[in-house]
Amino acid sequence: MAQDSNIVKSTLNCKCPKCHEGDLFLNTKTYQFKNFLEIHDNCKACDQDFQIEAGFYLGAMFVSYALTVAICVAVFVAFITFNAYSLIPYLIATGISLTLLTPYTLRLSRSIWITFSVRYDPNAIKKYAAQNKNK
Ligand SMILES: [Zn+2]
Repeated sequence: MAQDSNIVKSTLNCKCPKCHEGDLFLNTKTYQFKNFLEIHDNCKACDQDFQIEAGFYLGAMFVSYALTVAICVAVFVAFITFNAYSLIPYLIATGISLTLLTPYTLRLSRSIWITFSVRYDPNAIKKYAAQNKNK
């Protein structure tokens, strides 16, 4: 199967940054809260190590912060666009938006963070298959 080289699609779908095929998270459903932040040790398709070093995903909190600010700004822009800005409704809408989007934001921030560190390899799955064939 040909690997999809679209890095944005792969990151948004929380796929392996090296092969864009294997799932990053154990639980593939974002809003099923059991183990929704657990990450595989290695990619099932290309064997990329997802536990790069101890505390690796602490850096994802900076990405999560940026995403949270972006959501707040997006809600603000929506209020301004529809000429409906008022502080209390804005705070309520922002609170609801952040609450509903937090599970996806947390997963997406980890996916973005590992994508910064691991380069896409279009032949990653073939290399891994050939490596296993020789064993
Ligand atoms: Zn992979």
